[in-house]
Amino acid sequence: MDGPIVVRRAAAIVLAATVCGALSTLGPGPPRVRLAVAAGTAPEHGHGPAGAGHGRAGTGGRRAPAPAPAAPRVDCLRAKCVALTFDDGPAESTGRLLDILAAHRVRATFFIVGEQAAKFPDLVRREHEDGHEIADHSYTHADLGRASTKKILSELNRTQEAIRRASGVAPTMLRPPYGSLSKRLTAITTRMGMAQVLWTVDPLDWEHRDTKYVERRVLKAVKPGYIVLMHDIHPTTVEAIPAIIEKLAAEGYSFVTVPELFGGTLTPGKEYVRLDSGDRQGLP
Ligand SMILES: [Zn+2]
Repeated sequence: MDGPIVVRRAAAIVLAATVCGALSTLGPGPPRVRLAVAAGTAPEHGHGPAGAGHGRAGTGGRRAPAPAPAAPRVDCLRAKCVALTFDDGPAESTGRLLDILAAHRVRATFFIVGEQAAKFPDLVRREHEDGHEIADHSYTHADLGRASTKKILSELNRTQEAIRRASGVAPTMLRPPYGSLSKRLTAITTRMGMAQVLWTVDPLDWEHRDTKYVERRVLKAVKPGYIVLMHDIHPTTVEAIPAIIEKLAAEGYSFVTVPELFGGTLTPGKEYVRLDSGDRQGLP
């Protein structure tokens, strides 16, 4: 129904780690979420209660942003849900993506690079005002799993501030670049009140700047409860989105933000890869 599938199955499902061209040595298997727990990294002790930092900041005098959804619009334990997520922006092509998402009434989750937020604050604000979730992807696209405490804090605090300045909200989710994690990073995100969001489907759109390729890989790999990783900085990816949305909608999928996928609330420090089938069949 989706046309000829030329992608091998093993390559179609996620297998992260190659995002943005680094850490490309992982083999096939389930989503790899601990690929960069640095050997020899001293575990860091927790420094405070989890759950801090979930407050929304003021709007800074701009027109009021759309209220955050108080509750999921769909029960993803029963419905077929998928979360589209976009990393590394905003960039010029993000405006076009926002037009596409608005036209299809689809909300997504944006993992923003802080230095891009500083360059394109209007796009960050629009992402928020259009009802999308906006989240942290470090300031310089740093490998946080291998970074020192000082470096992690600098990357995260600067990004939080850039996003808050642009949109009025402080993110409560981090996607570590390259999926690079560490105990130190987990301790810091817990303290800062940020969940760590990974992914289940990776079409390698940064490598394959080919709209049809991205479309095919996403459509072949998506299953209910999955998180799809793409990059709004590539126009070739943006142009794949209308067909991805239309075909998944025709299969009965609902498009949700990452918090909605997991019932509305995420636990700081915890890693989220997908809504597991076990969760979908029974109680979480
Ligand atoms: Zn990235």
